[in-house]
Amino acid sequence: MEKVAFIGLGNMGGPMAANLVKKGFAVTAFDLSQPMLDMAVSNGCKRADSAHSALEGADVVVSMLPHGEAVRSLYLGVHGLLQGMNPETLLIDCSTISASDARQLIAAAGERGIEALDAPVSGGTAAAAAGTLSFMCGGEEKTLERARPVLSAMGTNIFHAGPAGSGQVAKICNNMLLAIHMIGTAEALQLGVDNGLDPKVLSEIMRASSGGNWSLEKYNPYPGVMEGVPASRDYAGGFSVALMLKDLGLAMDTAAGSASSTPLGALAKNLYQLHGGDPINRVLDFSSIQNLFRRPAGD
Ligand code: NAD
Repeated sequence: MEKVAFIGLGNMGGPMAANLVKKGFAVTAFDLSQPMLDMAVSNGCKRADSAHSALEGADVVVSMLPHGEAVRSLYLGVHGLLQGMNPETLLIDCSTISASDARQLIAAAGERGIEALDAPVSGGTAAAAAGTLSFMCGGEEKTLERARPVLSAMGTNIFHAGPAGSGQVAKICNNMLLAIHMIGTAEALQLGVDNGLDPKVLSEIMRASSGGNWSLEKYNPYPGVMEGVPASRDYAGGFSVALMLKDLGLAMDTAAGSASSTPLGALAKNLYQLHGGDPINRVLDFSSIQNLFRRPAGD
């Protein structure tokens, strides 16, 4: 049985680690948060007291952390995991971070003879729980082939985007587009509701028409239209506004680096910044952008 060290057991990492257990991997888990670690243990993972101890005897380490700073501090520097890591251990970082951070990590791993991939994911918490994530991988083809059994236990689509960092570029292109169609969907739904339409009926019409898109069909932002999505539970859980803002920041940095024109991405970032200006909104799912368009009751 392959041994996996799993670091970062939040909204995404928790269910991903649970799926590895279900598929027969021996998973040793670590998270800075005790409640998250407890949950992973209740799903069959072995508890580790530190990231370093999680790695003992591991064939593969998978990390799913909130941002690049967390990934850098986990692996790099004098106290980082790369120090003393067995070169036979495969490193798969699934966090969404900048392509330059991913390249730096993979290069630093390579200097120690460690094979590494950037493998950010798409699909959200529902796909993480169902084991149907999409992985966008950057790194060498042979490293991806080594990683495939572990990735296949957590997802259904595994793409090789290109060399190191390419998975991250694909991911931020996707998430910039996601933000744009989520905002467009929320705006269109509110326009219909303000003019007397039932958001369920309008959603059905647009689904079957040229306005159909993932936000409308799979992750409807209007409360009461769809069951099982964050909009049906006051926007709790899911993919936070803070994380979407991070991804839009990464997209804008990448666009600046390549002198690419991304006016809609810039507008989406501004609108999420406006929405996330209230700290209460930052922890809500990103589909809560609907509230930016909804009128206060009685207005
Ligand atoms: P989260 O905040 O729910 O979980 C992150 C976890 O990492 C937390 O439990 C935190 O305690 C832990 N952590 C932070 N630093 C750590 C460290 N140094 N060592 C150990 N544990 C540490 O975030 P999430 O929603 O699970 O997202 C994780 C990553 O996946 C992010 O990069 C995000 O952009 C990306 N992502 C999220 C979604 C989504 O729908 N939530 C979808 C696709 C991609």
